[in-house]
Amino acid sequence: MTVKTRFAPSPTGRLHVGNARTALVNWLYARQSGGLMQLRIDDTDRDRSLDVHVEGILADLDWLGLAADECFRQTDRADRHAAAFDGLVASGRLYPCYETPEELGIRRKAQLAAGRPPVYDRAALRLTDADRQTLEADGRRPHWRFRLDDRETAWDDMIRGRIEVHAGSLSDPVLIRADGAPTYTLATVVDDAETGVTHVIRGEDHITNTAAQIQLFHAFGADEPRFGHLAWLLDPAGAGLSKRIGSMAVGDLRDDGIEPMAVAAFLTRLGTSDAVEPAPDLAALVASFDITRFGRAAARFDPAELLLLNARQLRLADAAAAAPRLAAIGVPDAMAPAFWDAVSGNLERFGDAAIWWRVVAGPVDPVILDDDTSRAVLAAARDTLPDEPWDEASWGLWTKAVQIRAGVKGKALFRPLRLALTASEHGPELKKLLPMIGRARVLARLCGEAA
Ligand code: GLU
Repeated sequence: MTVKTRFAPSPTGRLHVGNARTALVNWLYARQSGGLMQLRIDDTDRDRSLDVHVEGILADLDWLGLAADECFRQTDRADRHAAAFDGLVASGRLYPCYETPEELGIRRKAQLAAGRPPVYDRAALRLTDADRQTLEADGRRPHWRFRLDDRETAWDDMIRGRIEVHAGSLSDPVLIRADGAPTYTLATVVDDAETGVTHVIRGEDHITNTAAQIQLFHAFGADEPRFGHLAWLLDPAGAGLSKRIGSMAVGDLRDDGIEPMAVAAFLTRLGTSDAVEPAPDLAALVASFDITRFGRAAARFDPAELLLLNARQLRLADAAAAAPRLAAIGVPDAMAPAFWDAVSGNLERFGDAAIWWRVVAGPVDPVILDDDTSRAVLAAARDTLPDEPWDEASWGLWTKAVQIRAGVKGKALFRPLRLALTASEHGPELKKLLPMIGRARVLARLCGEAA
């Protein structure tokens, strides 16, 4: 059996990190099993589905590196959904219902008030032909429900273990709306069954749909796929991420300068008991992935933790991988390895490299400390500045000479030098920056000139 997973976003908003995690887990599971991942655009809700969101979802998945092996829109398979519907009507598993949403709402409220579960009462099954004719003559169009078998329906969830649901606790799901459009339930089961999906991995909000979907697979004479339900991701305040449309969108992380590999590495481990670690590439995530590590408890997505991982992710990148992006901020190829070696440990975001490149190439407006000790240090530094060529040893030799000449050491020695050379209190090691800054700029900055 070839494993086929699928990621099935509804294009009604931007991809948020909860969706991205679902996509990633489907992708990792497929890759690890030597299988395929399908991307299915769930656009049966024609009013709320927008092309701009389809394009956004594709761009976000591309940015994350999660290429699908096949891709289609549910509306492209409308004829298959219609055929499946006809088959179910013929087999007697569907029945027409005429209640309006308002009528159903009133009934639900009454059930809840009486302490009963708000399950559809199957009133439509008791309609006579004459009743139906009257309703249709009144202009009512039927929606169609799938009659569930009143039995225990169970599955071995890939993440949550055995789940048993008694179908008597469920409403018969609507498969066709009054306007003739198929619902998500019909379209998803027909598509999963007919396109050979073997594993359905999705958010825990779909646990309540699964038992009815399993019965529908059986009504089609198909075996159900395996199901796995990932626990919610919450924002740092504890609110469900998908509750607010667009909260923590993948596009925001991209705009914020977060590395796609940091996002992928973070989402692979969030909600597991394994430590969050950077990874060199997606293949490394595939190698260490274990879907059973995900827990049942909701996990918090904290952007501050992601930013820490992003910094570690950048430290992991080698100069060759960084070279094209360094070229884009003006770093000459010949200097890229030394520059990356100097700064990669000091970046939260890749964009910070531009700040350090400016420290190297100038202009820097030096910060000159004006106390006696600092003035003595800077004077000694000018007097003892060695001739080029410089290497990583030059800084140590030079500052030793400054220490002896000015009679100053420790912070009182290094702080005025760092502020004069970089205009910052902190930054990459000066022994690495110094040879790149070069003698002319160093001397100018020691004299308080912008260079
Ligand atoms: N379009 C559904 C959603 O975004 C997918 C449900 C499923 O995976 O079956 O929630």
